[in-house]
Amino acid sequence: MSDQQQAEVIVVGAGPTGLLLAGDLAEAGVRVVVLEKRGERLSNLSRAFAVHARTLEVLDARGLTDDLFALGGNKLGEFLLFGRATLHLDRLDSRFPFVLMTPQYHVERVLRRRAVDAGVEFHYDHRVTGVDQRDGRVTVHTEHGDWTATYAVGTDGVHSAVRDAVGIPFPGEAVLQSLMLADVRFTDPPDRSPVIAGADGAFTFIADFGDGYWRVIGWNSDDQQPDDAPVDLDEIRTAVRRSLGTDFGMRDERWASRFHSDERQAPTYREGGVFLAGDAAHCHSPAGGQGMNTGLQDAANLSWKLAAVLRGGDPALLDTYEGERHPVGKAVLRSSGALIRVAANRSKIAQRIRGTVLGTALGIKPVMQRMTGMISGIGIRYPHAHGDHHLVGRRAEDIGLADGSRLYEALRGGRFVVLDSALKPGADAAGGAFVAHAASAAPGSPARVIRPDGYIGWAGEDDPAAIRAYLETNAGAR
Ligand SMILES: Cc1cc2nc3c(=O)[nH]c(=O)nc-3n(C[C@H](O)[C@H](O)[C@H](O)COP(=O)(O)OP(=O)(O)OC[C@H]3O[C@@H](n4cnc5c(N)ncnc54)[C@H](O)[C@@H]3O)c2cc1C
Repeated sequence: MSDQQQAEVIVVGAGPTGLLLAGDLAEAGVRVVVLEKRGERLSNLSRAFAVHARTLEVLDARGLTDDLFALGGNKLGEFLLFGRATLHLDRLDSRFPFVLMTPQYHVERVLRRRAVDAGVEFHYDHRVTGVDQRDGRVTVHTEHGDWTATYAVGTDGVHSAVRDAVGIPFPGEAVLQSLMLADVRFTDPPDRSPVIAGADGAFTFIADFGDGYWRVIGWNSDDQQPDDAPVDLDEIRTAVRRSLGTDFGMRDERWASRFHSDERQAPTYREGGVFLAGDAAHCHSPAGGQGMNTGLQDAANLSWKLAAVLRGGDPALLDTYEGERHPVGKAVLRSSGALIRVAANRSKIAQRIRGTVLGTALGIKPVMQRMTGMISGIGIRYPHAHGDHHLVGRRAEDIGLADGSRLYEALRGGRFVVLDSALKPGADAAGGAFVAHAASAAPGSPARVIRPDGYIGWAGEDDPAAIRAYLETNAGAR
């Protein structure tokens, strides 16, 4: 091995965030290397269990949802909160009006297969030990040699070595210790799923994977142990009984773990040519199941920008990654933190009224829309500059196209889609093969350019010169 191996982008960490990012970059023709400290190709840790609607749309824009559904999982349209309040994901204006309950390793499996097919170079057993930056190049050190590239992305999780190496802090606080997780069977399963309940200094979350196993998260204020203490099923049974009065005949755990829930966020997601994404940039309580989802959407936001700048797009585009994703991370910290604090509240009065209060609030349509939009990711929108059309920064809905296909099919392969434009595709157009032109099946709305991550990048009257200028900056001149 030579002293320094070369790439255009080095991705550190092959968790879900790194796998999606690397696959996107390779599909966009970028030479990408993934360095992963684990020896094995795929983790078998269940961990995150919820794939929300916006993430499913992100996977749809990569042609991966059918593969994921084929691995199994349960599509849940409703969330019962504290016995009285129902969160209606089934009313979401999305092709995927539900949350898919499936173990994290299923998501990683489809993302890894796609990354391998796209030509990503993986190096397992390669722990990153340091990062240097000089003369516009990033050098990443491992125990097996060094790699150098134009950019590096730390997708190496909560204890990110990349974040430490570039000196980005990770301020925040521990929220709950000794959260217990297990995937179990039940002799007498609950008649609804999922269930979120809390009483008597304990709380429980239970959801059906649809394959005979259920995810249980339990917390008991009287049973606080360090993360490395093994999880005894009896401990979880006790937490569930205290919250719900029964343990549903819990048995046969296939996986169990204990962790503590921190709320932390890096104040910046970038230092020079080094970026942070996923848990390396933010971590929060598992309430709402948003950790993995937020990381995957970080990756979808960053990947096309890196690819575009490497193709000659405006380098300032890379600053919009933090500008768009940091506020989303902050909002997730706030909402998941609020939910877990309500669940863990020991006050008898609070326990008695929270389901009713939440149920009343969710009866108000805009409150329901706001909460489901936040949890599912469907409500996320990015800021637009002064003078931009008001549609800029909004999520693009999956509309039908005049040729019978769908917008999210046209986005595949990391493409921009120019909708309803008089501008005709040409070999010399900005963005080249990464720009598709399509007409909406329902004409009449303004011309739009949809970014590869499914957000509206430009909108206005059909104006080929303005669209071309947008693409030169954002899709790359080559
Ligand atoms: C026990 C547990 C339970 C969880 N439960 C839930 C849940 O119920 N719901 C939910 O939404 N989220 C949950 N999470 C969080 C969820 O798993 C994460 O949000 C998600 O995995 C983030 O993905 P990521 O790719 O950003 O980071 P990770 O999945 O953490 O991936 C980081 C990768 O980087 C690698 N790596 C680390 N350091 C280095 C290094 N120095 N060099 C090279 N490689 C390195 C790691 O081996 C790993 O493969 C849980 C996490 C844990 C630990």
